[in-house]
Amino acid sequence: MTVTPHLFIPGPTTIPDRVRMSMNLPMEDMRNPEFPKFTLPIFEDLKKVFKMKDGRVFIFPSSGTGAWESAITNTLAVGDKVLMSRFGQFSLLWVDMAERMGLNVVLCDEEWGTGVPLEKYADILAKDTAHEIKAVFATHNETATGVSSDIAGVRKALDAAKHPALLFVDGVSSVGSLDMQMGNWGVDCCVSGSQKGFMLPTGLGILAVSQKALDANKTLNGRMNRCFFSFEDMIKTNDLGYFPYTPATQLIRGLRTSLDIMKEEGLENIFARHKRLATGVRAAVDAWGLKLCAKAPVWHSDTVSAIEVPDGIDANNVLKTAFYRYNTSLGTGLNKLNGKVFRIGHLGALDEFMVGGVLFAVEMTLKDVGVPIKLGSGTGAAAEYFSKTATKSAAAPATKAA
Ligand SMILES: *Cc1c(COP(=O)(O)O)cnc(C)c1O
Repeated sequence: MTVTPHLFIPGPTTIPDRVRMSMNLPMEDMRNPEFPKFTLPIFEDLKKVFKMKDGRVFIFPSSGTGAWESAITNTLAVGDKVLMSRFGQFSLLWVDMAERMGLNVVLCDEEWGTGVPLEKYADILAKDTAHEIKAVFATHNETATGVSSDIAGVRKALDAAKHPALLFVDGVSSVGSLDMQMGNWGVDCCVSGSQKGFMLPTGLGILAVSQKALDANKTLNGRMNRCFFSFEDMIKTNDLGYFPYTPATQLIRGLRTSLDIMKEEGLENIFARHKRLATGVRAAVDAWGLKLCAKAPVWHSDTVSAIEVPDGIDANNVLKTAFYRYNTSLGTGLNKLNGKVFRIGHLGALDEFMVGGVLFAVEMTLKDVGVPIKLGSGTGAAAEYFSKTATKSAAAPATKAA
């Protein structure tokens, strides 16, 4: 049987057929005189997704990690003090990068399952009256633990201390799925990638940059060696609708379609859909009697759930069983969570039917590996929630038929 594998990892996510087909086209000349008519509106539409007040968006032929590097090397100098927090594999990797790039990291090491420690940030920033800290980093959605953090709260901490540091946000698994208000929250560099909320293959590092960060790039502060990820080269060519090196034209064609789809649904509707689907997943986890890795509801992520397995059960066995028996890929437990959690990615092109499908597979898998749960308990709880909260538009075809 050749059913497409069911992909429920938190990126790459499922690509809508319309997006996939829009990338199936002959190679094009990226210096042709018509090319800017295609590229320039994409930069403008991306600004709306990030809800920017000023600044610009860069599209690198890289993964999200490249956009991390670009943000750092273009606005900071070796030896600069920066404030960061670590509470999962992705925030851990960003700290590792910052240290390897030569930044002096003031680190808040937090329990995995929690997020950005607002009070500690506020305290550290208030005490830094000499403004030695040049940038504050926050992982909006820690994909390893299924934890979302309050970025508006980080802005408040900065403002309360009247601190001029730049604000860097990792939005790789949030932008396009969870609300990102760069303008209102005063975010200076927001990092994203193509393969999560943007519903594309991996291969684009998308970096949104405020005017303040662009200014920092021009001052002495922005003096770190850089080449491939340099803002300057990008700006020179992007302003004319081109790129300093060969752009990933096919992926950008796909991005055009993703942005169209996102515009049609509307950002606020997209966020509401993610919230609703995530709530259904959490209802199932509750009904199974299992616990999320996220320590409290304030940390709940609407794009990914990391679910703890009971003592004596190996989460890697859950992953293997789901894969081999039910053709379903779940997210693995990363780093110290390996064997302890499995993750369900619920972001991007997704509806109740698909969430129901993965919960069905997870339920059978859990029973197979020896977790004492009642088949139908989790799927039933999710179905109960979805049917209770069904919207008119979701039921539109049936209404029409009747
Ligand atoms: C996926 C992810 C990354 C890494 O992005 P790549 O595209 O794999 O380089 C970074 N941060 C978060 C929060 C992520 O989810």
